[in-house]
Amino acid sequence: MNFEPTETHRMIRETARKFAQEKLAPGSMERDEREEFPSAALKELGSLGFMGMMVPEQYGGIGLDTISYAIAVEEVSKVDASMGVIMSVNNSLVCFGINRYGNDDQKDRYLRDLASGMKLGAFALSEPEAGSDASNQHTLAKKMGHAYILNGTKNWITNGSTADVVLVMAATDRPKGPKGISTFIVERGTPGFTVARKERKLGIRSSDTVSLSFQDCRVPAANRIGGEGEGFTFAMKTLEGGRIGIAAQAVGIAQASLDASVKYARERRAFDRPIADLQAIQFKIAEMATGIEAARMLMFRAAALKDAGQPFGPEAAMAKLFASRIAVQSALEAIQIHGGYGYVREYLVERYLRDAKITEIYEGTSEIQRIVIARSLLK
Ligand SMILES: Cc1cc2nc3c(=O)[nH]c(=O)nc-3n(C[C@H](O)[C@H](O)[C@H](O)COP(=O)(O)OP(=O)(O)OC[C@H]3O[C@@H](n4cnc5c(N)ncnc54)[C@H](O)[C@@H]3O)c2cc1C
Repeated sequence: MNFEPTETHRMIRETARKFAQEKLAPGSMERDEREEFPSAALKELGSLGFMGMMVPEQYGGIGLDTISYAIAVEEVSKVDASMGVIMSVNNSLVCFGINRYGNDDQKDRYLRDLASGMKLGAFALSEPEAGSDASNQHTLAKKMGHAYILNGTKNWITNGSTADVVLVMAATDRPKGPKGISTFIVERGTPGFTVARKERKLGIRSSDTVSLSFQDCRVPAANRIGGEGEGFTFAMKTLEGGRIGIAAQAVGIAQASLDASVKYARERRAFDRPIADLQAIQFKIAEMATGIEAARMLMFRAAALKDAGQPFGPEAAMAKLFASRIAVQSALEAIQIHGGYGYVREYLVERYLRDAKITEIYEGTSEIQRIVIARSLLK
């Protein structure tokens, strides 16, 4: 067991931190206010290699481990959690999904541009009636010669209106339930594929969340990832890795809440002394720091198992379950420490709370994470 970061991990943290401070911090409040997608910063993040961190160099990525990726998502999310999820979806759902389960031709055609940030990816599993119950897919993919015809609607798709490449799960044999689902790579501009509605959100407001519509959308059979009927397993396996990214996003938001609280507690005076001198405030800060450190360790543990090629599903679920709870609690405590100033937009802590909440919902709600963990223990 080694708790020391490697030289590469240190370097990734420094690079991500510098990028976040210089390129994301200015304008993050305005982007949140205006619900504005961070297009320019995203290109720069791509040029650092951070949009395809685990993609092998042969396909244009920087071939790093999951720990490096988690560190980068944490640092980015500490400053801009919207960018954290944009990056996380592209890295751990789209690039990982294609790299792990795609064939050589698919990797060759898609990974380079996705890893460099030239193109952006989205992952479309959820539907109006298929969220936690993800196998209840109503989007249908009917085989017609050398193509599939897709019809249906996808809900809540991160990066959906900006993505050039969308991984779409659809039922190729609906009566078979989870065993009748397949995954398709659908390119933006394919006739019949349209962006239906942009969501207005509580938090991560500068990320892009939309519904997608498929109407007689013809996708070449060569764009099916894996075999027919393997799409549900693809989605569940890919989401296991995605949960490490969301845990990292949550740790980043929690750390930002702690940092803001420490700074404010030292500056704010009440009863002729800094509120940092009050034990009530000190205890809150101690609890926050302890929770964040524990969440980070769970995140690293899941990432290390993944990097070692060992099963990591329950550990990733634990990391996400715990880190998302810590993010919400830390943001709430940060608001409390800031008093009235925490409740208004002048300080960032109210945004941290709005951003933190989603980490308990997407890529499997906290209830679903508990099911995953309990199943692994009780099987
Ligand atoms: C901002 C945002 C971005 C998103 N991005 C994406 C994306 O990029 N791609 C994508 O495919 N999806 C995405 N999602 C969808 C997200 O993954 C789903 O919202 C989530 O899985 C929950 O599904 P649901 O909203 O249908 O809630 P439901 O499944 O209807 O759940 C409602 C409530 O019931 C609980 N519940 C449901 N089933 C059980 C059970 N068996 N046991 C206990 N409790 C249960 C849930 O935990 C929840 O509290 C995104 C969602 C949001 C809000």
